[in-house]
Amino acid sequence: MAKIKEIFQQKRKTYSFELFPPKTEQGFQNLLHTIAELAMLKPDFISCTYGAGGGSREKTLDVVTHIQDQHGITGLAHLTCVLHTKEEIKNVLDAIQSRRIENVLALRGDLPKENPDWKPGENNLHYSNELCAFIRQHFGDIFTIAVAGFPEGHLLCPDRDQDAQYLKKKIDAGADFVITQLFFDNQDYFNYVQRLRRLGVNNRIIPGIFPITNYSNLLKFCSLCGANVTSEIRQIFEPLQNDAEATLQAGIDFAVRQCRALLQGGAPGLHFYCMNKTSPTDKIFKAVRI
Ligand SMILES: Cc1cc2nc3c(=O)[nH]c(=O)nc-3n(C[C@H](O)[C@H](O)[C@H](O)COP(=O)(O)OP(=O)(O)OC[C@H]3O[C@@H](n4cnc5c(N)ncnc54)[C@H](O)[C@@H]3O)c2cc1C
Repeated sequence: MAKIKEIFQQKRKTYSFELFPPKTEQGFQNLLHTIAELAMLKPDFISCTYGAGGGSREKTLDVVTHIQDQHGITGLAHLTCVLHTKEEIKNVLDAIQSRRIENVLALRGDLPKENPDWKPGENNLHYSNELCAFIRQHFGDIFTIAVAGFPEGHLLCPDRDQDAQYLKKKIDAGADFVITQLFFDNQDYFNYVQRLRRLGVNNRIIPGIFPITNYSNLLKFCSLCGANVTSEIRQIFEPLQNDAEATLQAGIDFAVRQCRALLQGGAPGLHFYCMNKTSPTDKIFKAVRI
């Protein structure tokens, strides 16, 4: 399988999908079906989250291994350092390497509801930049490292300049590229890229795209991750909230407009938060891929 860094040398723009490990065996079987459908779209890579929303951490590697071994598509394994000791992180990275996964999205992660008071000590890593440095220290250049970026600032760090400084720390610690949090105002993305360029960050910053399929779920999701539900989004989707079909179509139309404008403005590709479903990402993807 390829390192994503090597894919970048051949492609100016990349198109990728993000999945999460389901909690049940039936969910896992459904996901395998979704992966087969997404694979037919020939994405450049597919990523799988780690422990997000309380999902199983062990299953991440199974999903990524399946993507690579059964479909020949490059996988990107998310890894969070929260709740792990350094030794455990080293063990997970050894397992990632032994499965021939060459790409890791290095994250701090969030504390789960069941464990809100956990504090990192001497034997833990505090922030994503420390995880990047840890990976480089123990594994050299074996992995391409991605990190998370926040065009609107992070929930706990709304000062966008400060948050950009933290992003630079991740790059300085060895990260190769950035995938952003979802956002709905492209200007936030373009301003973010400029902020980072001014700090000397010249790495790819791939925008994360969230297809809207349900307005109340969107509000819930954004309140958790801190993304702003813009007035444009409210104006489009609020009046449609009791009409599932109209919401779906408006979500596709909005995402297609958003993606086209991002690509025209110079974004180096798109990363779709698929929510483990083929549709409507497939429709958006087919309409915008260059
Ligand atoms: C593309 C993407 C994928 C994601 N995948 C997952 C996943 O698989 N599993 C999951 O649980 N979550 C995932 N998340 C969510 C993510 O874990 C949370 O947003 C988390 O709160 C921050 O993680 P981070 O790696 O950005 O943390 P960090 O970069 O460590 O930042 C965490 C907070 O600390 C601040 N900070 C950063 N560095 C420092 C420093 N050196 N000193 C002081 N403050 C600092 C930041 O501003 C921020 O407020 C993902 C997010 C994105 C955008």
